[in-house]
Amino acid sequence: MRVIVPALEQGCPAHYALRTEGISHEVFIMEGNHDYGILLKRLWGEGEGFIIVEGDIAPWPTALKHLEECNRLWCGHNYPMALGGEVGVSLGCTKFADDLVQTYPDITLNWDETHWRYLDGAVIGSIAFRTGTECHRHQPPVAHVRSREYGPDNIFVNPVEAYGRDT
Ligand SMILES: [Zn+2]
Repeated sequence: MRVIVPALEQGCPAHYALRTEGISHEVFIMEGNHDYGILLKRLWGEGEGFIIVEGDIAPWPTALKHLEECNRLWCGHNYPMALGGEVGVSLGCTKFADDLVQTYPDITLNWDETHWRYLDGAVIGSIAFRTGTECHRHQPPVAHVRSREYGPDNIFVNPVEAYGRDT
């Protein structure tokens, strides 16, 4: 199954994790706020299912195989969201099966006009509405490597300053 990595840079955690596991994938660099929606709409329009792994997601080995082998139309892994690390499912590591894409070709109507911040709601909402199903969640969660400005304060310790140097 085609594996797509929407990312801000080539050297992203998803790319490194997939490369290490030997999974072929395509990294698409997102430059504008609508690029993600445009990408999803185009992929959907090509009529074949695909798996999305967002650039800051690090799937555990065989995580994508679990999605691919599941017979449900729409599957995803949970991952920690923002502050507090509560896990949930969004677009970060998601499978859209061939049958889903082919049965609902016009589901992507306004995705290309949707800012990436709201794209998860638009995509999840339209699929849920049209199919009457929820995303099938797979466990355990995958890692989400968010940039630190979104997370709890990090503490960086310089060991020499903290403990001194042996004399
Ligand atoms: Zn599933």
